[in-house]
Amino acid sequence: MDVSLKEAKSILTPQRSGFLAAGPYPFTHALSSYTGCAFGQTTCGMYCYAQFLPNWAMRRPMASWGEAVEVKVNAAQLLERVLGTMRSEARRRLRIFMSSTTDPYQPLERKHQVTRQCLEVFARYPDLDLLVVQTRSPLAERDLPLLQQIPYAWLSVSIETDDQAYLKRLKGGPQLKKRWELVHAASVAGVRAQITVSPCLSYSNPEAFGRWLLDSGAHRIVVDTTTDGDGAGGERSARTSFAEAEPDWARTTHAHRLYDYLCGQVNETAEVEIGWSNAGFCGIAPRSQ
Ligand code: SF4
Repeated sequence: MDVSLKEAKSILTPQRSGFLAAGPYPFTHALSSYTGCAFGQTTCGMYCYAQFLPNWAMRRPMASWGEAVEVKVNAAQLLERVLGTMRSEARRRLRIFMSSTTDPYQPLERKHQVTRQCLEVFARYPDLDLLVVQTRSPLAERDLPLLQQIPYAWLSVSIETDDQAYLKRLKGGPQLKKRWELVHAASVAGVRAQITVSPCLSYSNPEAFGRWLLDSGAHRIVVDTTTDGDGAGGERSARTSFAEAEPDWARTTHAHRLYDYLCGQVNETAEVEIGWSNAGFCGIAPRSQ
């Protein structure tokens, strides 16, 4: 792994179009504490669309996705400067997704703590509208006390399947059980938690997987597919090593079956919100509503 330290020029990336800018409640900005992602060498790296985005694809020297990461050492200072110079009225409109092109809790975060430092900044500004911290890493549990202090924070955890053996046969990744435990710990700690089944991979059966997800304590569950969720109608996913390895990579029936099962269950209990693809990701209502 090639790790380098970098002074970033800016830290909040406006979302004017694309996946995160969709309705009903678009994000205004994305925030990445790292460039590149060490999980790129695991299963999710097989279908990760971030490897095709300009900030990685145009990077020089080139490196395989998951083999190089830049640490944005000044991320928290930049964030403090941006938030500190904004009027409260402008801050109240901020809806931030952290992160769309890296995992803020990849293993390097244990040492560099860039994500943690950014959360410390957010904790000093109680007036933003939304911060979604998206991860698949159990390391995020370390920062639950900080997330508790941010009134607009959500922890969103990727759990694409309940089949650990299948995940291992591909390229592994953080243990599914540990991710579920992270969601549960967040929920118990009073941190709003979301699960993203994104993209939905092969799983045991809709009832077993769906019940497991519902029992986690998550407040929202979003189901997505490689074709709906890559921001290019499946064109990016078609170019990935996942498409090479899995002949039925574009199949979406299993994702729809899981979604239908979850919707049916939630109609009875009304305790959890279920979303589909980008409308699900962008489905957290403004705090003022
Ligand atoms: S954790 Fe997210 S950003 Fe990192 S490789 Fe996996 S899908 Fe891509």
